[in-house]
Amino acid sequence: MYRGRFAPSPTGELHAGSFVAALASYLDARAHKGEWLVRIEDVDGPRCIPGADLAILQQLQQCGLQWDGEVLYQSQRHARYQQVLDPLLAKGLVYSCGCSRKEIEESQALMGLNISRHKAAIYPGTCRTGLHGKSARAWRFNVQQWCALRGNPEVHWTDRRLGAQVQNVVNEVGDFVLKRADGLWAYQLAVVVDDADQGISCVVRGQDLTDNTARQILLQEALGLPHPHYLHTPLVLGVNGEKLSKQNGAKALDLSSEAAVCKAMNQAAATLELNTLSAPLNSLTERPSVLAIWTAQWAQREATKIGT
Ligand SMILES: [Zn+2]
Repeated sequence: MYRGRFAPSPTGELHAGSFVAALASYLDARAHKGEWLVRIEDVDGPRCIPGADLAILQQLQQCGLQWDGEVLYQSQRHARYQQVLDPLLAKGLVYSCGCSRKEIEESQALMGLNISRHKAAIYPGTCRTGLHGKSARAWRFNVQQWCALRGNPEVHWTDRRLGAQVQNVVNEVGDFVLKRADGLWAYQLAVVVDDADQGISCVVRGQDLTDNTARQILLQEALGLPHPHYLHTPLVLGVNGEKLSKQNGAKALDLSSEAAVCKAMNQAAATLELNTLSAPLNSLTERPSVLAIWTAQWAQREATKIGT
């Protein structure tokens, strides 16, 4: 049984970029005659905007993307995440870390490391042997130990669109944070637990999240969870050539009129390289039939790529 999901963060309304991921995950689920779930990734509470969740759900409905079942909210799952973290702690696969950002940078310099990742310092492993009298600021996944147990620091996986992928998580990422001392759960843990609990068989999401996949695969292994298939969708670039994001001021999807809804949907379909010339959306009454045609186009194209 195919089960997919769209999992937006309620940090603002959907823009043209995030809508592409929504449409892709919807079409993939429908093409596989599966279920399409929506999950609100509000685990990072301080970044969320009140009401953005409902605005996003309304945008999906305005575009005719109707989800199956109840919407899941990460903010209601703290107890579940702790239940998953505790056994990893007991096995020594998670340890508490008392380092400040400054201390991490200093110990990197001492070790002769000058590596950073997305401007975040790669953790040098200082607290793997204990807190040394400091108090815990975060809980980290012991990537080094898990990769020693699995016998390979490289994670190999295949993206349905991008093909073969490999990442050495020990060298390129390091021991990453699963929970912060202020109680905030890291995206990596929440998403892995939610995908497993919801029975997600295929993750379809924006290409900017590709880099997270190897970490999530390691967590799935350590927790004994199944691996979903992955498909990362093309990004929509702004006029400056950077990916559209809320951080660089991408505007909310304009759905203010029938013509605007049609335009937004046609643009997203074109980004996904569907043949919108043969099946353009011109009115809301055509929407079910056009979505069905796009689903059929998608199914035909993907049939050769995934054996589900
Ligand atoms: Zn530390």
